[in-house]
Amino acid sequence: MNAELQLSATLESTNGVSPQWTRESAQAVHDLPFNDLLFRAQTIHRENFDPNRVQLSRLLSIKTGGCPEDCGYCSQSAHHQSGLKASKLMEVERVIAEARKARDAGATRYCMGAAWRSLKERDMDALVAMVEGVKALGMETCMTLGMLDLDQAQRLKQAGLDYYNHNIDTSERYYAEIISTRTFADRLDTLANVRDSGIKVCCGGIVGMGEEKADRIDMLVTLANLPEPPDSVPINMLIPIEGTPLVEAEPIEPIEFVRTIALARIMMPKSHVRLSAGRMAMSDEMQALCFFAGANSIFVGDTLLTAENPGEDKDSALFRRLGIKPFAREAR
Ligand code: SF4
Repeated sequence: MNAELQLSATLESTNGVSPQWTRESAQAVHDLPFNDLLFRAQTIHRENFDPNRVQLSRLLSIKTGGCPEDCGYCSQSAHHQSGLKASKLMEVERVIAEARKARDAGATRYCMGAAWRSLKERDMDALVAMVEGVKALGMETCMTLGMLDLDQAQRLKQAGLDYYNHNIDTSERYYAEIISTRTFADRLDTLANVRDSGIKVCCGGIVGMGEEKADRIDMLVTLANLPEPPDSVPINMLIPIEGTPLVEAEPIEPIEFVRTIALARIMMPKSHVRLSAGRMAMSDEMQALCFFAGANSIFVGDTLLTAENPGEDKDSALFRRLGIKPFAREAR
């Protein structure tokens, strides 16, 4: 069966329910001629979003370094010699002051990340105050704090948390090559708790970690086949960091990266696909192709947790040249 027929067969077999993707049906789309793939991705993008708007998120590390997990890509793991200094949880007032600056610079969503294995009860009051304070500024809130149980997720939801980020990182097959201190199933459990609490899920992964094409496809199949596809799907391009086990990983080829973005857009038509970490290593042309392929969210600001990110001036200049505008802030 050719790729077009195979895809229609997959979609038709679902009777209007979200299509269940298989490795084969996803790969058939991934392997389309590049122009056909991009045309399909852009068509689906236009059916679901304004093609000339990109959502801007700002990410703040509220607790940096010293993490007990051993994620092979991460400078914040206590297992690696990245030279990063660990810090304590940031004070609530400072987080809110930073969020206000981000809002005034145009960000509509504020993401707060802590380098933890899981959330501890002693920190809950401060986290609730952060969520409430950032919500009061009229911004959407997102947190990434490691593993959560259902009760913790419900309390964060009550405080007004809109999104919780918890990436599956890669395929189930490749997962153990990257992280040994928790399992792929642990990730899915936390995602279920987040979903059951009513918080929207932000979940994606990292490419360019030495995985195979099949792993990238399988990662997207897992995401698209969740009970509900994530509302936000960050696709990160590995930033190789000295002192981490993945510093020498073979970089992903740019066209292959764009194919991954296009496939994410096609498989999860209503999700925000975020062109996430790694933009410093991308040309303007590569980013433009990613937007054409359906990416419609970025992180703004000159740091991304601990890594460099293009500053606002560079992003504004690129947006001007492409005629892209940020998503408007939601009316409150
Ligand atoms: S990615 Fe998150 S969980 Fe993994 S080591 Fe870094 S901070 Fe810890």
